[in-house]
Amino acid sequence: MSKNFARALSVLFLASFIFQLTGFSQKTNSSVTPKRYNRLVIRNAMIIDGSGKPASGPYDIVVENDLITQIAALDPAAVKDGTAKRVAAGEVEIDASGKYVLPGLINLHAHTQDERGGAAQPVEYCMKMWLACGITTVRDVGAGQKTLAWREQSAKNEIASPRIFAYGVFPGAKTGAEAREKVRQLKQSGFDGMKLFGVDRDIMEALMDEAHKQGLRVAHHTGVEETNTWDDIKFGTTSIEHWYGIPDAAIESGRQNFPSSYNYNNEVDRFRYAGRLWREADWERLLKVLDGMIEARVAWDPTLDIYEASRDLQRAQTNPAFAEYLHPVLEEYFKPNPSNHGSYFIGWTSTDEAFWKENYRIWMRALLEFERRGGLIGAGEDAGFIYQMYGFGLIRELELHQEAGFHPLKVVQHVTANNARILGQEDKLGRVRTGYKADLIVVNGNPLENFKVLYPTGTEEIRDRQVYKTGGVEWTIKDGIPFHAPTLAKEIREMVAKARQMKK
Ligand SMILES: [Zn+2]
Repeated sequence: MSKNFARALSVLFLASFIFQLTGFSQKTNSSVTPKRYNRLVIRNAMIIDGSGKPASGPYDIVVENDLITQIAALDPAAVKDGTAKRVAAGEVEIDASGKYVLPGLINLHAHTQDERGGAAQPVEYCMKMWLACGITTVRDVGAGQKTLAWREQSAKNEIASPRIFAYGVFPGAKTGAEAREKVRQLKQSGFDGMKLFGVDRDIMEALMDEAHKQGLRVAHHTGVEETNTWDDIKFGTTSIEHWYGIPDAAIESGRQNFPSSYNYNNEVDRFRYAGRLWREADWERLLKVLDGMIEARVAWDPTLDIYEASRDLQRAQTNPAFAEYLHPVLEEYFKPNPSNHGSYFIGWTSTDEAFWKENYRIWMRALLEFERRGGLIGAGEDAGFIYQMYGFGLIRELELHQEAGFHPLKVVQHVTANNARILGQEDKLGRVRTGYKADLIVVNGNPLENFKVLYPTGTEEIRDRQVYKTGGVEWTIKDGIPFHAPTLAKEIREMVAKARQMKK
């Protein structure tokens, strides 16, 4: 048990103090604390509830087992002079004075990975990175059988992991009938939803109809293919992943002006010309596409973070957090290599970056317009590719939503309540609200001022001419189980250092 861990816990009744703290410590010599409490109280918290409402506080929050059961407002003056009426003591308590409490972050575009480019990478690395970054739920959009097993282990709290929604990859089909059969198989295998990419229109029509019948939600990586966003609108896709098919549906001639040498399967080509796609969309047509999405309730999960290397390669390659948090297997995978998806930076030019910067400007304007008109925006990271690390990628995504022009309260809403809605879990997850699942984070600092306080690397502040390390998530509470995020971060750093040692 770390010193911080002990300090962060305080138990009110002296009689129970030794028993409780000892009881807690015996089970918390590592971050894997598969322990839920009958009563956990978080004291004196500022709350950002995830709905988009302004921050408010202080509150005492009561968690009983896996649920938030009470949120009691405090009179700050009465708190000061000790006369405030407080909720009864918990089995364990977390002092959140000066801290912010948010719903646990939801990562809408996750890949639970235990290998990169064929080399083994411990899945614990991925899962602990998520928890250390305050992520309590992931939607795995590349799920296979292994993911289903991890989902069960996570649900039983046998492993330190966010809760997992497993979206199985549609394996492709030759006919509509076969497509329907494949959808039924995904449902029978126990997947929560389906991830789709690269299908032709007739196949998509059949599989989407069957998915609706089976009650499977569909996340569609809408590419530059036969289908585009008009098909998502027509067939009722749950969420568009990334963005390509949106501007593609708004090009006047119906096809981007590719050079004759263009090859979609060559990733240098594909990502280079993707950087010139938004500029070719006609703005008036684009607004019609966005309105069509809104009317058909097609949400948008843009994953802004995963393309950032395209507009600023050096920034992506020299992330200071790599020094301690980048696993050597992932590091190897990131290196330019045509056989690794997303590792396409071979001869990347200032011209490519300039096009991509413009691409981002139009894309961000479209996102703002989409929400203003009533569209539902989520937030996901797609990490494990293109210089994005698990968890860090999602926090970077929040910074980019802010850059797009959204108020930080809306950004928090994107990554909590909106993501829960896209998952169909809006009555259980994504809010700090009585009756909801106790998925909460206690943050050292105010994310509305600075999303960087969420990174395990934290931030700095000056007090009395001294630089102090601050920030970071202090507690990630998943399903009522508190994980001490700095301890998780320490375990990750040790895991990375050991893997590097082994590699030498
Ligand atoms: Zn992905």
